[in-house]
Amino acid sequence: MTMIKCISPVNGEVYAERPAMPLELAKQAVAHARLAQKNWARRPVEERVKLVLAGVARLNEMVDEVVPELAWQMGRPVRYGGEFKGFNERSNYVASIAADALKPIIVEESDRFERRIEREPHGVVFVIAPWNYPYMTAINTVAPALMAGNTVIIKHASQTILVGERMVRAFIEAGVPADVFQNLFLDHDTTAALIAAKSFDFINFTGSVEGGRSIERAAAGTFTGLGLELGGKDPGYVMEDADLDAAVDTLMDGATYNSGQCCCGIERIYVHESLYDAFVEKSVAWVSNYKLGNPLDPETTLGPMANKRFAATVRQQVADAVSKGAKALIDPKLFPQDDGGAYLAPQVLVDVDHSMEFMREETFGPAVGIMKVKNDAEAIELMNDCQYGLTVSLWTNDADRASRIGRDLETGTVFMNRADYLDPALCWTGVKETGRGGSLSILGFHNLTRPKSYHLKKVTA
Ligand code: NAP
Repeated sequence: MTMIKCISPVNGEVYAERPAMPLELAKQAVAHARLAQKNWARRPVEERVKLVLAGVARLNEMVDEVVPELAWQMGRPVRYGGEFKGFNERSNYVASIAADALKPIIVEESDRFERRIEREPHGVVFVIAPWNYPYMTAINTVAPALMAGNTVIIKHASQTILVGERMVRAFIEAGVPADVFQNLFLDHDTTAALIAAKSFDFINFTGSVEGGRSIERAAAGTFTGLGLELGGKDPGYVMEDADLDAAVDTLMDGATYNSGQCCCGIERIYVHESLYDAFVEKSVAWVSNYKLGNPLDPETTLGPMANKRFAATVRQQVADAVSKGAKALIDPKLFPQDDGGAYLAPQVLVDVDHSMEFMREETFGPAVGIMKVKNDAEAIELMNDCQYGLTVSLWTNDADRASRIGRDLETGTVFMNRADYLDPALCWTGVKETGRGGSLSILGFHNLTRPKSYHLKKVTA
């Protein structure tokens, strides 16, 4: 029997393992989900919303177990208290708009005609989730999909193998029927085989570009709808009128929080030449304040990366950039806990350029490159010089200028004076290799349902 294992970054040992489900059993689980779906969809939307929120509340009651469990699985320091803030914010927001987002679009209601577009659930929705924000990324689809009347099957990342199991347990204890929301422990082959067998009516995949490609290949020819939320290399651009301290604070936090393992984390920063020196100096001071260490220690502000192989990628990219002329500004002596494995010191690089992999490929670690720019045109060209497009963080006091620049940017979200945040009222989406589709917001509900048109002609005397 194949075991799916979580190797803890805290000590490099197996923290949790679960047997991978054989294909036949997984197919049975899908059949149960399909059978349960019609009844679930027949319930009023208010009832479904209430049950989902009860599941969210039940999970909140498990906070004392969830927080250390997360630290063991993926290294986030316990002092940050898990990810309940965003998890609750997103759940509550989608709950507040569900009825409105799902209501029919009435085109005509007259003596002669009823014409409207209703929204129907897809059926069985499959959620494939990543480890970096394991609860928040999952809830983006799980909550609205259930509220819309779909049943949901979740397959969570091996690194955070306990998260899907715990979410489902919370929801079931809160009253969601067992077949309506199921967690399956699946290996890649079984996942692909289920998808290829047309088991699902919609798939949301959040993860790497390579993973997204595999899912797209598995789904080829099945016509299964796909939402793909993939990698990023998000830039910040600090203009000459920016609030420097606020820019440093938010961009450095965006670059390093969660050990830089955030899809919309800041990976490269372009600073107007007039502010460049001050920005670099303040950024180095900001990052130097981190305390790297065991995530279970409440004093630790920067935990290990989730897996030593992720840290190895960061180390390799930084070393490559330095070999090509980049300068690393963080003194390694400040971080003696860096063990060459999962525990990795943060880093700020200058003298970088776009010939370096570090400035173009996703790094997904607590390391950021800073470049000097002369004007908006140069910054726009550099920000677009990348295969990804998730968010961009612009720093200026001029909203018109930010909107103008935003129109020229190849990105899913344009931020001004903030970064590394997911606004549940807006559509979370990407361009280029960051993926397709969109979640949250009213559009997220539309993507988790399909339109059905009614054209009813009445017989008149
Ligand atoms: P990943 O390796 O692609 O894994 C994501 C999920 O997909 C995991 O559950 C994984 O299972 C599964 N998976 C990967 N390849 C698969 C395959 N061939 N067949 C079946 N399942 C497969 O990504 P990750 O390392 O967990 O997450 C980090 C990446 O996610 C980064 O690139 C980040 O930018 C991206 N991300 C994007 C967003 C966004 O909103 N755009 C949000 C969060 C993260 P196993 O763990 O069992 O391999």
